[in-house]
Amino acid sequence: MIKIKNLKAVIDDKQILNGLNLEVKAGEVHAIMGPNGSGKSSLSKIIAGHPDYKVTEGEVKYEINFNEVNLLDLEADERAKEGIFLAFQYPVEIPGVTNSAFLQASFNSICKHQGIPEMNTEEFSQLLKEKAKLVEIDASFLDRPVNQGFSGGEKKRNEVLQMAILNPRLAILDEMDSGLDIDALKVVANGVNKLRSPDRAIILITHYQRLLNYIKPDFVHVLAGGKIIESGDFTLAQKLEAKGYDWVLDQ
Ligand code: ADP
Ligand code: MG
Repeated sequence: MIKIKNLKAVIDDKQILNGLNLEVKAGEVHAIMGPNGSGKSSLSKIIAGHPDYKVTEGEVKYEINFNEVNLLDLEADERAKEGIFLAFQYPVEIPGVTNSAFLQASFNSICKHQGIPEMNTEEFSQLLKEKAKLVEIDASFLDRPVNQGFSGGEKKRNEVLQMAILNPRLAILDEMDSGLDIDALKVVANGVNKLRSPDRAIILITHYQRLLNYIKPDFVHVLAGGKIIESGDFTLAQKLEAKGYDWVLDQ
């Protein structure tokens, strides 16, 4: 679904990615781990199309309807309409815009782009209620401004609700587990697991192995120094948990 080759990127002249390679196929779940400040969130924003990052070298191919497109040619909103979704490490509050209005507008613009019939408010609120149950979000949260005054855990659940509604092909979840107690973590992980599908790829970014006990990845990668320096299966995450990052960095 996505093929990243020798990707190099800078922000404010600071080198963030330095020759990163990654290939993710439909149906797969990849975990990207790595020390703080190694560029994990930057990678997710570069894939989503954050305009502050400048790609200086390399390519990102994304498959749409069996055609490979150059993802870097698309604006952030076009990438979203083509099924790329990013759940932020630090979800943004949007005062004055209710969760339900925000999600309906997002949902309908994706439908419009993909040639799927849009939903009116009545139809959409039915869908929203159904999906809210998936992440145990109370209906009262749907009429509140996006993320405003939500607790850390509520914001994370709201990101998974967005994912459930927007039905992405490639979902990147940045530190889904940060700030969650164990019960909230289980709810969020359970929601994500229900959204696993053969048509969808998921990139899970996490600093800790804990999340991966609940969402089992097919592949685990270590990002450091702006590139993937080690890849393996679930046992790599267990090894990192037991031994820390130093041994990989030393290699
Ligand atoms: P991680 O998510 O792995 O903890 P980040 O991608 O957030 O790492 O950050 C990688 C590096 O990029 C850090 O050194 C961070 O300070 C730097 N960085 C991120 N955003 C900016 C920015 N807007 N300006 C300058 N440096 C930045
Ligand atoms: Mg980060």
